[in-house]
Amino acid sequence: TRQFELASRPKGVPTLENFRFAEAALPELEDGQILVKNLAISVDPYMRGRMNDVKSYTPPYRLDEPMLGGAVGEVLASRSAEVAVGDVVVHEKGWREAAVLAADGVQKVDLSIAPATAYLGALGMTGLTAYAGLTKVAEFKAGDVVFVSGAAGAVGSMVGQLAKQLGASRVIGSAGSAEKVAQLLELGFDAAFNYHDGPVKDQLKAALGDFEGIDVYFDNVGGEHLEAAIWHLNTFGRVALCGAISQYNATEAPVGPRNLALAVGKQLTLRGFLVFSYYQFAEEYAQLVGPLLADGKIQYKETVVTGIENSAQAFIDMLAGANTGKMVITLD
Ligand code: NDP
Repeated sequence: TRQFELASRPKGVPTLENFRFAEAALPELEDGQILVKNLAISVDPYMRGRMNDVKSYTPPYRLDEPMLGGAVGEVLASRSAEVAVGDVVVHEKGWREAAVLAADGVQKVDLSIAPATAYLGALGMTGLTAYAGLTKVAEFKAGDVVFVSGAAGAVGSMVGQLAKQLGASRVIGSAGSAEKVAQLLELGFDAAFNYHDGPVKDQLKAALGDFEGIDVYFDNVGGEHLEAAIWHLNTFGRVALCGAISQYNATEAPVGPRNLALAVGKQLTLRGFLVFSYYQFAEEYAQLVGPLLADGKIQYKETVVTGIENSAQAFIDMLAGANTGKMVITLD
């Protein structure tokens, strides 16, 4: 099989030199294991953190070893009673063509309902992140004014659309280009802006229209975006701290939010979360989003790159904003 290994740890923005695309032999199947051929693999922002040698909620990738990540694969051989040849499963051995892995811990999916890539995005980890962050962490309720950053991405585009469907009175999104802003408006966002066009604080104020402030901020970006949101949050406003992608390639300690003291007077709630702690809501989310997708009330966007050999470039491009919706790689 061919696989990506971590060749060196990036300083700042990752480059292709940090990755090695190598041939590897697959081990013999043992009891309880399956052999999968990957159909689609995921590249995600959190992987940037795993390329660093620091202790975090996911262990760092090891130098010269294959990288890990979400993937959907077809089972070619099985020594498990639970998983049969021909089943399609979501698992954690992405970044490679084929893998031998333990059958327990994989999740079966149905390609007659949705294509493999959807189980890495809207019907998978990023969709659940959007749902859990919005409804469980930020405790969204109908009538709230919602602001989401990284709004054209996999998580953000679902956050905005779910908020609209669940009765938000206004949904505002920010993204990194005019094309993305136009797409957000097509998806039903009430307002959207390009954060490159001027200070986020001022653009957010303008996007509020007649509303005083925001009730919920879904933070994918951190830094200036979080500071701007704190300025414009209403009393008892809630923030779901989902990610801080503006800082993932930082080589120096990041600045801000410098106005955190406002959280006292405004009685804000700022709550970090990891989707891994919310899988008990996966079924609830599937029940909600399935019909909305089927009726076209929610759309999921993907940026699809073909060919396993292009995965590292796709990852680098995703960090730089080349994707709208979920960045995925499909394999032949
Ligand atoms: P996206 O699909 O949103 O892709 C990443 C996007 O980040 C890019 O398209 C780019 O869009 C944007 N971006 C890159 N650099 C910057 C910057 N300096 N400032 C603002 N935006 C930037 O990825 P995901 O939807 O998978 O992830 C979104 C966020 O959610 C990330 O922070 C990620 O770490 C987090 N996350 C957290 C999880 C959790 O359990 N807490 C689970 C999954 C994701 P643009 O063109 O708009 O700049």
